[in-house]
Parts: sequence; structure tokens; C-alpha cells
Amino acid sequence: VTFSDLGLSEWIVQTCKELVMKKPTAVQTHCIPKILAGLDVLGIAQTGSGKTAAFALPILQRLSETPFGVFALVVTPTRELAYQLAEQFRALGSCLNLRCSVVVGGMDMLSQTQSLLKRPHIVIATPGRVKVLLEENPDIPVVFSKTKFLVLDEADRVLDVGFEEELKVIFQCLPRNRQTLLFSATMTKDLETLLELSANKAYFYEA
Ligand code: AMP
Repeated sequence: VTFSDLGLSEWIVQTCKELVMKKPTAVQTHCIPKILAGLDVLGIAQTGSGKTAAFALPILQRLSETPFGVFALVVTPTRELAYQLAEQFRALGSCLNLRCSVVVGGMDMLSQTQSLLKRPHIVIATPGRVKVLLEENPDIPVVFSKTKFLVLDEADRVLDVGFEEELKVIFQCLPRNRQTLLFSATMTKDLETLLELSANKAYFYEA
């Protein structure tokens, strides 16, 4: 199986080659075509399995077709993970004029608000901070009113830390017709419940 076989465009295939991603990993092979087909996905996948590219590549392909911001919101449990995700998005999206913002605790809220109001293509956030920003300024929810993708990265950890309140606020601000992509190291009851709330047909992947 090649990246082209999965339905990805030539420029993405070329980027993968440059990043020495020779062929898709299992989670990429299974999930990329489903994401391109518009399905919600719950992927049980460990760090190191290539799960980030499994959601980033199809998101970047869709973004390149109709670029606007905020196109995707990626929620992850820790600041470190948020910065790592941003780095991967920037590398994989180096062909696009990708604007990517990281919104995490401990950093200046005013500059985060200003950066969101400029409508970056991709926002990578920890749940607590994005909730505060959404509630603090009535212009911020508007920025997410056409968002196409919500990703919960390390979703089991996001749910485990007790971010239900935060997720509720985030879900309320995003349009119903978005795609939801959940990636988690383990399957949990909470994930099942989240998936049941989804308005779309869902695909379940487990290695
Ligand atoms: P992740 O599971 O997303 O944390 O990715 C682990 C590492 O694997 C990252 O450094 C990626 O750059 C790398 N990677 C992702 N997909 C591939 C691939 N298809 N071939 C080789 N390396 C990859």
C-alpha cells in the first residue's frame, strides 16, 4: 500500500517522501481513506504508530481544497503534546501556507486571543485553556463556527483527567456537521459514549 493508494494528493505523497515516510503505517492505511470519505473515526493506536499523520494528512488535504480558518481544532491533554502536534502539522503542511496556533495553559491569554481572532487554519489546544478562551470573549466561538474537524488526541487521557466540562463547552461551539476523530491508546466507556453522540457514521479501528 502507498500513500497515493489511500486517496492522498500528489503534493502530500511528495511531502511524505521528503519526510522519509516511505509507506503508510497500519493506522494510516486504515484510517486515512475513512477520514477522506467523511466518516468519524475512533482509532485505538499507541504513540509511535503514526497516528498523528493518520489524522493530519487527510485534514491537510481537505484544508488545501478549501482553505479557511479555523478548519480543525485538535485537543490534546498536555502542553508538550500540543507543541509536538504543531510541529508535525507544520512539517506535513510545509507546502501550504499553513497557519497553526497552539493554545495551552501558562501562556499569555491576550496574545492567544489575538492569534485565534486571526483565524489560523489549525488550532491545537489543551482543554482547559480553550474553554476559558471560548467563554471569555464572545468573538472566539464565532471563529470556530465553520470548523470541519474536531480531533481528540490521546482521548482516553483527555477524558481521564476529568475534562467533561471543558469538552462540553468545546462541543457546543463547533458545528454539528463537523467530523470527529478520536485517537486513544485504550478503549474506554467514555469514548463509546462520545462516539454515540456523534451525528456521523463512525469507523472503529483497533490494531
Ligand atoms: P506518532 O505515532 O504520531 O507519535 O508518530 C511517531 C513518529 O513516526 C513520528 O515521528 C512520525 O514522524 C513518524 N511517522 C509517522 N508516519 C510514518 C510513516 N508512514 N513512516 C515512517 N515514519 C512515520
